[in-house]
Amino acid sequence: MRQSDHFLLVSHVNPDGDAIASLIAMALALEKWGKRTTMYNESPIPAVYRFLPAVDRIVRRIETPSAYDAVVILDCSNIERIGRLSADFGQFSLTVNIDHHLTNTGYGDFCHVDTAACSTAEIVYRMIQMIGIALDREIATAIYTGILTDTGSFRFANTNRTAFSICLDLMENGVDPYTVAQHVYGTYSIGRIKLLNLALDSIEITEDGKLSFMMLTREMLEETGTQPEDVDGMINYAKSIKDVKVAVLIQELFRSDTERDKNRFYVSLRSDGSVDVAALASSFGGGGHHRAAGFSAETSLADLKGGILAWIDNSERGICRN
Ligand code: 5GP
Ligand code: MN
Repeated sequence: MRQSDHFLLVSHVNPDGDAIASLIAMALALEKWGKRTTMYNESPIPAVYRFLPAVDRIVRRIETPSAYDAVVILDCSNIERIGRLSADFGQFSLTVNIDHHLTNTGYGDFCHVDTAACSTAEIVYRMIQMIGIALDREIATAIYTGILTDTGSFRFANTNRTAFSICLDLMENGVDPYTVAQHVYGTYSIGRIKLLNLALDSIEITEDGKLSFMMLTREMLEETGTQPEDVDGMINYAKSIKDVKVAVLIQELFRSDTERDKNRFYVSLRSDGSVDVAALASSFGGGGHHRAAGFSAETSLADLKGGILAWIDNSERGICRN
């Protein structure tokens, strides 16, 4: 990275707080180091993250992927996670893979994957320290947002000692936790709250109480005037029920025009640790962490639910369901 001048920074489609924050923090830090940067994400940036510094500089199109000295890919466990641009992977001069997912495939010329890091933002912070770039309020705010959102506001199992110690340093560099929390969790549209109502109402649990399903259809989003980004975090309600070990959120993405029963779904998974949902997601072509993972699938709803139930029942790591 020292030897490169012009960087293309990329994070995953449908970005979450960590994907956006890592992108911005890395770009601003590299610029302080005298480098030129372009930030890329295929998807629109969710409204709640548009308060972040330099967010308007994130572009959704890249003309010449080979024009950069290095492409830094953040928070992506496999190259396909960056979306359409992955087709140009072969043209990248040099690829740097910076991530904290258990299922990272190790793609790229240089690979810095730390599954003990609470977030990719934590790794970016450590790299900034290592290089010796001074923090400022903008960089600190981005990193704080990544840590805050990826730890579920310091509630998830990835909340580690480092997270708190970094956040103290970030506060000393000008971060105001209340302001960040207010943007991220206190600027929802009324439609999002109405959607939450429908999502909560859709929750079903298996007879043994160990598995919960939440379902979001295209109609629910249309009815409430919401976007897929508004679904972020809702699965935590399905996970928060006593005795539930695995929560599954099935989100209908597209409905097939031709085949009546074959639709495209996005599936989010959360576990209490007794089931490795990264392995479950991987078996469906996705990935993630031990306790939080996801995948997309084109199938019928019945087959999808059946497949997930069968995996859990058959898996040696499966929960004891009797
Ligand atoms: P979420 O349910 O919040 O969308 O995703 C949970 C975790 O799984 C995140 O760390 C996310 O990056 C990862 N993940 C979600 N979907 C996919 C996917 O399709 N492929 C891979 N490799 N990881 C995913
Ligand atoms: Mn992350």
